[in-house]
Amino acid sequence: MDRDARLAAEVDARRDSLVRLTQDLIRIPTLNPPGRCYLEICEYLAERLAKAGFAVELIRAEGAPADSAKHPRWNVVARREGAAPGDCVHFNSHHDVVEVGHGWTVDPFGGEVRGGRVYGRGACDMKGGLAASVIAAEAFLAACPGFRGAVEISATADEESGGYGGVAYLAERGRFSPERVQHVIIPEPLNKDRICLGHRGVWWAEIETKGRIAHGSMPFLGDSAIRHMGAVLEEMERTLYPLLAGKRTAMPVVPEGARQSTLNVNSIHGGEAEQDADYTGLPAPCVADRCRIVIDRRFLIEEDIAEVKREVTALLERVKAQRPSFAYEVRDLFEVQPTMTAEDAPIVRTTAAAIERVLARRPDYVVSPGTYDQKHIDRIGRLSNCIAYGPGILDLAHQPDEWVGIDDMADSAKVMAMVLGDLLA
Ligand SMILES: [Zn+2]
Repeated sequence: MDRDARLAAEVDARRDSLVRLTQDLIRIPTLNPPGRCYLEICEYLAERLAKAGFAVELIRAEGAPADSAKHPRWNVVARREGAAPGDCVHFNSHHDVVEVGHGWTVDPFGGEVRGGRVYGRGACDMKGGLAASVIAAEAFLAACPGFRGAVEISATADEESGGYGGVAYLAERGRFSPERVQHVIIPEPLNKDRICLGHRGVWWAEIETKGRIAHGSMPFLGDSAIRHMGAVLEEMERTLYPLLAGKRTAMPVVPEGARQSTLNVNSIHGGEAEQDADYTGLPAPCVADRCRIVIDRRFLIEEDIAEVKREVTALLERVKAQRPSFAYEVRDLFEVQPTMTAEDAPIVRTTAAAIERVLARRPDYVVSPGTYDQKHIDRIGRLSNCIAYGPGILDLAHQPDEWVGIDDMADSAKVMAMVLGDLLA
């Protein structure tokens, strides 16, 4: 039997184990926020991986955002050294899941198996991918015991809320530096036949317009911040949205609608604050002296973030030129640079070749419209040989009745095992 056949047979022999592992992971409700059961899931994985010969570390992201005595941000990092020096291949999964929401017909933390699928919150995003990477590593160790280099598996906190208590914390402590790790696969649910090379950039900012409070019956005595904001939104419609729609990227972003620059106004607040639901009175008549919006600008690898910001200040200056009392402030909230691994990077070429052998088809190369933990590995870890590849359908993420297909998990585990075989055996 050649190596591919041995690896595939070892994964097939672990099919029941793959299903049980996925179920067990789903049954630990690692809800974020607030960050429940992080220690429990890390201890579960630590025990499993220690049995497979990994040296295991539990690492708490002390002092990271949201870390507290009540909800500590735990991570697990496991490393298995080979018989000789060589590259290290690292599989990184986030162990947190988002809130359940409404509309479920199965128990979101039951891990029910039905019709070749495992159901539950996090099944596809991304406990199925995490389980597939563990099985891939166990299959590889059984088939290629004399391998070179090292295999690492991590399960990290808080990806759904920015990754600061997870991958960012570990990257800041050198866990993803190129001297320690040479190849990274993040098994996010991108489908078993697609390789995700990276993501677009992000700029979140708050824009505030200023006015002067006065009685609502004599608005001419005040200055309405809401009317000023109305002028800003109108100018966006007139000039900014057409400008963004005209910017096309060579990045293979899916869905296709995201192959241009986009801007969303995430929220708008102006004038009197909203009252509690049990308030039964009327609102008071006032001219709004403050109005704020939060914008979510997603930009392309061809764009420069300074230019992205300049477009917005230029827009505000145009409004100001037309409105004598117009005053504004822009506050940066969050920014992420776009990232895209080259198609000829070793991890991309190796994974593509493994997909062709397992699925008898060429992979599609995609880029994510939103960001994920690759941003920290790229920017803090300075490691660009990184992709997202894993089982599951991205559209099911964060939805009710989330599921992952058992065949898809097994196929992608074979791909991951063959990647280990090609890079380390
Ligand atoms: Zn995810």
